[in-house]
Amino acid sequence: MLKTRHLILGAGPAGLGAALRLQEAGVDWLICEREAEPGGLSASFVDERGFTWDYGGHVLFSHYETFDKRINAARPHAGAWLDHRRESWIWQGDRFIPYPFQYNLHRLPPEGAAACLRGVEEALRVRHDTPPANFRELLLRSFGLPICEHFMFPYNDKVWAWPLNEMDCDWIGERVAMPDIARIRAGFEQRRDDKSWGPNNAFRFPDRGGTGAIWKALADGLPPERLRFRAEAVAVDASARTVRFRGGDVIGYDACISTIPLDQLAALADDPALTPRIPLRASATRVIGIGLAGTPPPDIRTKCWMYFPCANSPHYRVTVFSNYSPSHVPGPGPQWSLMAEVSESPVKRVDADGLVQTCVNALVEDGLIPDPAQIVSTTMRRVPYGYPTPFLGRKACVAELLAALEARSLYSRGRFGAWTYEAGNMDHAFMQGYECVGRLLNGGGPECEPTLNTPHVVNSRYNPESEAFHAPAKP
Ligand SMILES: Cc1cc2nc3c(=O)[nH]c(=O)nc-3n(C[C@H](O)[C@H](O)[C@H](O)COP(=O)(O)OP(=O)(O)OC[C@H]3O[C@@H](n4cnc5c(N)ncnc54)[C@H](O)[C@@H]3O)c2cc1C
Repeated sequence: MLKTRHLILGAGPAGLGAALRLQEAGVDWLICEREAEPGGLSASFVDERGFTWDYGGHVLFSHYETFDKRINAARPHAGAWLDHRRESWIWQGDRFIPYPFQYNLHRLPPEGAAACLRGVEEALRVRHDTPPANFRELLLRSFGLPICEHFMFPYNDKVWAWPLNEMDCDWIGERVAMPDIARIRAGFEQRRDDKSWGPNNAFRFPDRGGTGAIWKALADGLPPERLRFRAEAVAVDASARTVRFRGGDVIGYDACISTIPLDQLAALADDPALTPRIPLRASATRVIGIGLAGTPPPDIRTKCWMYFPCANSPHYRVTVFSNYSPSHVPGPGPQWSLMAEVSESPVKRVDADGLVQTCVNALVEDGLIPDPAQIVSTTMRRVPYGYPTPFLGRKACVAELLAALEARSLYSRGRFGAWTYEAGNMDHAFMQGYECVGRLLNGGGPECEPTLNTPHVVNSRYNPESEAFHAPAKP
């Protein structure tokens, strides 16, 4: 039986972050990945007609110097990155409004705008003795009913695919623009667009190969004999410290860093003590790619992505993916591409058979596709684990499970490994793996894994490398 000191399950950003840290420390490790390529949810693919797609709208914005240095070193060639200024908009059925909605009320018809402003002013005047019980209540208390009805409720219903009153509020932080009333009034009164909110108002993108190019490059820099692809873990024996793979191989470990979904790891371990107390909730994402001949209509020529709260479209977001890099379309001749995302859950089913056509019809109706005859390619992929839902009771349930796993030398990290949306982006996932290894090699408590344990702190700043956990590895 093969034995490694550190076995990593999954070669997405979290697994590669762990591998890189182990490689830097010169310590034994092996990564096993089910698919034929690295990248996980952050991989990319090329469809039959040569259009490049990501698994949903990915943009790179980082909170960490450590992360930036590693990905810059992995893709050092001139022109490796294309810099973009965010152009994100909300489609209101008859017009585009810049994101965030509340700072751009002047774009609404006058009565609607005035009602939204009154609503948020009244909501913010009320003092509450208790924190909001759930996400829906937080939205109502923060924005008032008119803004919720125009945008917050329909959009969030669409994207999360679970009832908003069954979600907690712990994840909000930088993910939702909470209202600054002075800024809302200024936008309304001065009738000017305010688009600069948020951590991703500028972002960069690989020149070619989609987001997946980042993770391919990172994996290419690691010793190939330490990376096993098409190696799917099918059983974990936590007491023997072994993992069995499809095909029968068994690999032993001292510590296993797993980045596969937490509920799947618990099932592979087949141990009643590792069964989640509450079923973990997630939504699936369907990614619909539409390749077109010609050029985008003027209205969306510079837009990055658009949110769709309206009921006529199944998608919650559409990205003008050809605007991120010209290499996303195969040519010859002018071409462009749109990528739509649709969410799905046990309480929000999707008719997969007609979905591509339903999305196309809505895009035509909304004027984003001027002529369906221009469509030269359509593709659809389903991502079964898309968004880790911040359901009520999640924090305690996940913390218990992670602790029980850790007591068995199983370290579950990453977007679905730790079931965390607030620290579930690519930079976070990479750093979860990286920081976990730092702690394993050097000892230390939860403070050595700030991304996992204090996401609001890491999200509130750009984290210098000097503060990453870099003590030398133990002999
Ligand atoms: C629709 C969508 C939009 C997103 N947008 C952004 C964005 O704009 N910016 C951003 O930074 N992030 C974004 N993300 C998040 C980003 O995709 C994740 O942060 C990142 O991929 C998580 O990395 P991970 O390593 O934790 O997990 P994953 O990427 O899920 O990697 C886990 C790996 O484990 C492998 N695996 C699973 N089961 C097994 C098994 N049994 N045996 C072996 N291997 C297995 C999988 O194949 C996978 O490669 C988005 C995600 C989605 C779904």
